[in-house]
Amino acid sequence: MGEEGAYALFCATVDAASSVAGINDSWLLERIKTPERVHQVSIPLVRDDGSRELLTGYRVQHSSARGPYKGGIRYHPNVTLDEVMALAGWMSIKTAVVNIPMGGGKGGITVDPHYLSLRELEALTRSYTERIWRVIGPLADIPAPDVNTDARIMDWLADEYGSRSGLADPAVVTGKTVEHGGSLGRDKATARGGFDVLEAALRAEGEDLRGKRVAIQGFGNAGANAALLLREAGAIIVSASDSTAALVKSDGLPVAELAAYKDRQAHFCDLTDFDRKRADSPLYEDVDILIPAALEGQITASNAAQVRARWIVELANGPTTPDADAVLAQRGVHLLPDILATAGGVVVSYFEWVQDLHSERWLLEEVEARLAVIMRRAFDAVTELARQKDISLRLAAYAVALQRIADAIREGEKAPRRSISTVIL
Ligand code: NAD
Repeated sequence: MGEEGAYALFCATVDAASSVAGINDSWLLERIKTPERVHQVSIPLVRDDGSRELLTGYRVQHSSARGPYKGGIRYHPNVTLDEVMALAGWMSIKTAVVNIPMGGGKGGITVDPHYLSLRELEALTRSYTERIWRVIGPLADIPAPDVNTDARIMDWLADEYGSRSGLADPAVVTGKTVEHGGSLGRDKATARGGFDVLEAALRAEGEDLRGKRVAIQGFGNAGANAALLLREAGAIIVSASDSTAALVKSDGLPVAELAAYKDRQAHFCDLTDFDRKRADSPLYEDVDILIPAALEGQITASNAAQVRARWIVELANGPTTPDADAVLAQRGVHLLPDILATAGGVVVSYFEWVQDLHSERWLLEEVEARLAVIMRRAFDAVTELARQKDISLRLAAYAVALQRIADAIREGEKAPRRSISTVIL
């Protein structure tokens, strides 16, 4: 996504959904789209060889209409303010569509962390936290992991926040290690949330997962965990890819074995026991269900006609372009949009925050059961609006979220917001 591209796309989708949401007030619409606060920071870093760098980081606080800002922190060379603004906006929509009492935010540093040593990575995280600690906090803005950031980095952020603020509260960040206040089930939450939505969608059509043939593009956290859940439910994973190759097996890939293989940072292209194809080939397999779980912009107007799956579950953020949406809709493909299908991660992040604030520890079964209830409710609200208005699930998901954000802004103008520690489970 080029400079100014991502945020413009976010605004265009919000504009398109606003009339469905009944938002005719252009001032209100501008408020919904525009970030409340944008922080840009310079981050000094001393490398192991003694050389010094000054990196750029961001924290965009998009909407607090429904609760504290919530969203990940990304370390990537392509991070731009435009991208972080769009990602923050999408978080406001995502938290609203699943109706958790949080807003949207996002952070990022323009850096390739693969070139950093462990010490440099920790120093970078602590330096970034030093720049933003005054604007985050357990009741204000709660970061989480995103691309190239993990539980260990979140532990450092919480620790640095505690030393700077004098408030050693694990609820300042989610996605931590379980030993430092992380929630059970957070690692598989995105895949499980998508799985819950898919099960509900199939049931609504009188179908189930048994015997369904599945292709997965991207066998990382989201894709591999989805493969494991689908296999357990009786589906057959016939194709799966990483960035180096796709593996194909018509009677089903051994997904647990492949997940363990990927945990060792190995590449599919080296697995000579399997039929191998190009990394993008899962998109075109003759399957019932396609799961894009790698990158944005994979299904476009130029290749959408070659997608043969009847169902698409978007576990990556933004894998389908708006032009491709139209092609797929024309062909009657059931598409479960990213804004809903990937929301399991932020829901379990919210659970982690609640557990930390209340000094509780929930069992894994409890986390999974509560997640299923929230995903199911969101799916029902979105499908009901899509049916009523005869629109796509993507547009309906945005409209449901926009209605909730608009209501919260209007309510906030009438009276101060209720305590944000109110739990709505
Ligand atoms: P990850 O880094 O764990 O895995 C990504 C996988 O995609 C890897 O196996 C990689 O080899 C593969 N890949 C990369 N480029 C590819 C290509 N061109 N063709 C085929 N495979 C390719 O990342 P992840 O956390 O699983 O995230 C994947 C997507 O899911 C991203 O779009 C991310 O934004 C989205 N997502 C993830 C979460 C989460 O909690 N992990 C939450 C919301 C959205």
